Amino acid sequence: MNLSVAEAALPAAEPVMRRPSLAGRTRAGLAEALAEIGVPEKERRMRVGQLWNWIYHYGVRDFAEMTTIGKGLRAQLAEHFTLDLPEVTAEQVSTDGTRKWLLRMAPTGPRDRGAEIECVYIPEVDRGTLCVSSQVGCTLTCTFCHTGTQRLVRNLTTEEIVTQLMVARERLGDFPNRSAPEGAFVPNDGGRFISNIVFMGMGEPLYNFDGVRDAIGVISDDQGLSLGRRRITVSTSGVVPQIGPLGGEMGTMLAISLHAVRDELRNELVPLNKKYPIKDLLEACRNYPGLSNAKRITFEYVMLKGVNDSDAEARELVRLLKGIPAKINLIPFNPWPGTRYECSDWERIERFSEIVFKAGYASPVRTPRGRDILAACGQLKSETEKLSARARLMLEQDEAETAPAQH
Ligand code: SAH
Ligand code: SF4
Repeated sequence: MNLSVAEAALPAAEPVMRRPSLAGRTRAGLAEALAEIGVPEKERRMRVGQLWNWIYHYGVRDFAEMTTIGKGLRAQLAEHFTLDLPEVTAEQVSTDGTRKWLLRMAPTGPRDRGAEIECVYIPEVDRGTLCVSSQVGCTLTCTFCHTGTQRLVRNLTTEEIVTQLMVARERLGDFPNRSAPEGAFVPNDGGRFISNIVFMGMGEPLYNFDGVRDAIGVISDDQGLSLGRRRITVSTSGVVPQIGPLGGEMGTMLAISLHAVRDELRNELVPLNKKYPIKDLLEACRNYPGLSNAKRITFEYVMLKGVNDSDAEARELVRLLKGIPAKINLIPFNPWPGTRYECSDWERIERFSEIVFKAGYASPVRTPRGRDILAACGQLKSETEKLSARARLMLEQDEAETAPAQH
């Protein structure tokens, strides 16, 4: 059953004249807004600094609270703009503290109801990680990934990426004067609940290079959201020509979705491999700007039963990565309704991990998080394509059958 074909016709939405939101904008974007309402050029830099501090450091949602800005300008701002964040259409909290938010983006046109994307917060002992999306859906069609089956695809704007972090901080009470919600990671050094960001939600971040680069600029700015680039990881399925520029222009950590050690199999699992084969991909990794033992590349390897999980493949993996400062992240496959794959047995994953570990690589097995709310890796798929009642029923039945094995 292919659920992505099920959809309901959307009634034409009424055209609504909305005031644009300033949330998520770059400094240049804020300067443009000020220019639009006639703020003189010589004043703009200072005003941008004030707005920046209120929006990103304090997380205020009302211009009236911006007390360092004169009343007149505050009123003018409120007349033309908002500080709206994407609407949270659903919030789910997993039994393990993982939280998933379904966010509806502002409509891009009169017939658009606003695309939905998902964003996941994962508290761990030593960190709180936010998994963000870079696209609605994904144009790539990795055969083990749920997101790849979604038909509607577009790049998220810089604002839409940045506001995922803002929504999460707001929902977690992670702006100043906060109080910790149940299940949140509480740092003992006075840091923030969200200490790390991974671009491992929906989409291929390197197919949205400019949007992701500018969003990272806003997120890592130390006057505002202040999340260091070393705490941001961009995961790619292997868009080789953009890997060097990622290191040069964004300076973030890099994760590569490798998943196979032979081109024949990787062509099947990650079809982008036909364009950029393993050899070229690893060459780009060896040349990644800033690569060192302190800045290793993470190689992600999804464990698929009987497909890519043999001892020989573990040994080949080690051989391939020789000379690259690397961590290998083994991801137990997260099943989704309709998938043809199964997760490797736990003993197999341990054996595979042991071979990699003995060869000198850290090889943590990523504990599946939030499986009960379909928030785990590769399970994200928004409801943008609304399911018909019949399809939803089939999905529920399917889910009951593919209830995830707990490791
Ligand atoms: N498009 C990017 C980032 C998003 S996917 C990429 O492919 O790297 C984030 C990670 O989840 C990738 O390593 C991806 O291969 C993995 N993934 C996708 N589907 C999965 C599934 N069903 N189970 C486990 N991991 C999965
Ligand atoms: Fe896209 Fe990544 Fe899923 Fe592949 S694994 S379909 S690149 S989101």
